[in-house]
Amino acid sequence: MESEKLLNDLSQQFTNIPGVGQKNALKYAYWLATHKEVALNIKESLENIISRVRICKKCFNITTNTDEICNICKDTERDRTTICVLESTENLLEIETASVYNGLYFILGGLFSPIYGIETAIKRIDYLVSRVKEENIKEIILVISSTTEGDLTAQYIKDKLKNSDVKLSRISSGIPVGANINYIDRKTLIEAFSKRTLL
Ligand SMILES: [Zn+2]
Repeated sequence: MESEKLLNDLSQQFTNIPGVGQKNALKYAYWLATHKEVALNIKESLENIISRVRICKKCFNITTNTDEICNICKDTERDRTTICVLESTENLLEIETASVYNGLYFILGGLFSPIYGIETAIKRIDYLVSRVKEENIKEIILVISSTTEGDLTAQYIKDKLKNSDVKLSRISSGIPVGANINYIDRKTLIEAFSKRTLL
């Protein structure tokens, strides 16, 4: 049936999103097919995002600036000698909302993972290392989950920076093993930033 094929095509697109399984993908597709108004609003939002949102060339945060440098990277009031390395942009929003940090950021876009591979992370870490050298960065703070993937990624970054003078620390104290930092409250985050461990 044509309708089934159309719905399968849409649900297939949803399964490309990390964390969305076949079952939920199909559920979303059927729901949207019967709620056209919501589907149209989503279409409009997606068009806006596709045409206006860009990825910052320096830190991989999202931005609508046409020069592809985000406002945080442009901000001269911030501490430009410290970079906080994060797994994803959601983590950045959380730290900014909590106002616990005033340096620069760097988004890895993923950890070393058997499922999602390591290529994106490796490329970005190479770029991070070049920034450390070129911009006279004094401290790198890793905010990476305490998981096997997180530990492997942190170790790789440490190895890559071993010939530089940069101070490398990781926030782990106060963050439960395996916890996603998206679910940590402000108080825990403040404590975690102040008690970071040197690597
Ligand atoms: Zn940026």
